[in-house]
Amino acid sequence: MTVNEDLNLFHIARERFDRAVPFTREPHRWRGIAEWLFRPERIIKVTLPVEMDDGYVHIFTGYRVLHSTMRGPGKGGIRFHPDVNEDEIKALAMWMTWKCALVDIPFGGAKGGVECDPHKLSPKEKRSLTRRFTAALGDNIGPHTDIPAPDLYTDEQTMAIVYDTYAMMHPGENNFPVVTGKPLELGGSQGRSAATAQGLLYATEHLIEKGGVPGLTSLEGVETTVQGYGNAGRNAAHLFQEAGARVVAVSDSRGGIYSPDGLDLAKVDEHKEETGSVVDVSGTKPLGPKEILEVPCDILIPAAIESQITTKNAARINVRLISEAANGPTTPAADRVLAERGITVLPDILGNAGGAVVSYFEWVQNLYNQQWEEREVLQKLRRKMQRATDHVITKHLELRDELDHYRKQWHALQPNAPELEPPDLRTAAEVIAIQRVRNTAETRGVWP
Ligand code: NAD
Repeated sequence: MTVNEDLNLFHIARERFDRAVPFTREPHRWRGIAEWLFRPERIIKVTLPVEMDDGYVHIFTGYRVLHSTMRGPGKGGIRFHPDVNEDEIKALAMWMTWKCALVDIPFGGAKGGVECDPHKLSPKEKRSLTRRFTAALGDNIGPHTDIPAPDLYTDEQTMAIVYDTYAMMHPGENNFPVVTGKPLELGGSQGRSAATAQGLLYATEHLIEKGGVPGLTSLEGVETTVQGYGNAGRNAAHLFQEAGARVVAVSDSRGGIYSPDGLDLAKVDEHKEETGSVVDVSGTKPLGPKEILEVPCDILIPAAIESQITTKNAARINVRLISEAANGPTTPAADRVLAERGITVLPDILGNAGGAVVSYFEWVQNLYNQQWEEREVLQKLRRKMQRATDHVITKHLELRDELDHYRKQWHALQPNAPELEPPDLRTAAEVIAIQRVRNTAETRGVWP
């Protein structure tokens, strides 16, 4: 049955949060703390005039939301996209808080974005917009307050401009740690550009190894599809293929391509470089941008934008595992359909946390003027991702085994609330993260 879903990302973040809270320790003791942790600490909305190449001044709107500094400075990407809005950025900032807590790095959560169509901006216009946005944020970003990074349609070049603008405003200081995902020659870290995909691979391999995906024992020969062929998706396609998987389909905003024998990714890269899209690589079958989600395979990697897997298509998705590289690609209602159909979902706050982890490593290197070898970065990343994956698996089993206890506890507290649904890996991951932030809040106390 298809229902009309509420795709407002902040409402989705609320639903995910509300599903997790009843599974936290002694929920009756939260006394308002849950609501405090849910709400963003600060929301900034800025007007950004930019002189375009034709001389016309276009007005853009930018946002930066600092969700939480409970466990450390805010951390989170900046995206350029036509759909950017305050609720979306609020949701993404909150998920950064849970993500950083889940992989246990000393950051809170933040996110920023500018409502614009990046395909229509020239490099000069994009640079001016980035500078104006960074200047407008002023000291609301900083190495110890709120640290941006790349996201949708921003990259290391964009981060170089954020750094440069901030550095012009703070001469004579070590400004490298103000932003991560920078180019190597400007304080970037080895391993950062592919870190999100690398972390996804480590978490996916570990989940499979631990028996978390019925029907899969390794990545060898495993048919994989990837929606989105940008930083997260392109790197994921390559890394999964190097790890033994067979990537049979990829897509971007213009469409997708399919080849049952596996794609030649070097050829796909070359074609994308030349034409700006993966569409029409010779010897492949064309797919619509969303059609790729319904290609039967073992692993589906959504690596594009949010709300791609909804009740409209969840019943037609035939895979064993969805490894989420994008933020919020699956709606809560779709989660239910997938769970009923026995499809495992490696949730976004775990799956794509590798970017945040290596951003943390970059920040540490910048603070201490160090340069780590790639091998060291990857070893540390692997350990973080495996440990977080282990915690999520253990918590999931524990919550599932204790479901009756949690149901009774919640019913005593909220007699009119619907019965608690069986927890999935997403709920387990959010429970761990929310519990960690709550522990810190309780240790620090409420000021004054
Ligand atoms: P990107 O801009 O590098 O790439 C995005 C890709 O998605 C492009 O290939 C684009 O064509 C494609 N795309 C956009 N809209 C689409 C649509 N409607 N259908 C199909 N494809 C579409 O962005 P990215 O940095 O790779 O980010 C992708 C996702 O991963 C986002 O949800 C982002 O929040 C998440 N993420 C990224 C990072 C990171 O380090 N870059 C870290 C964590 C999470």
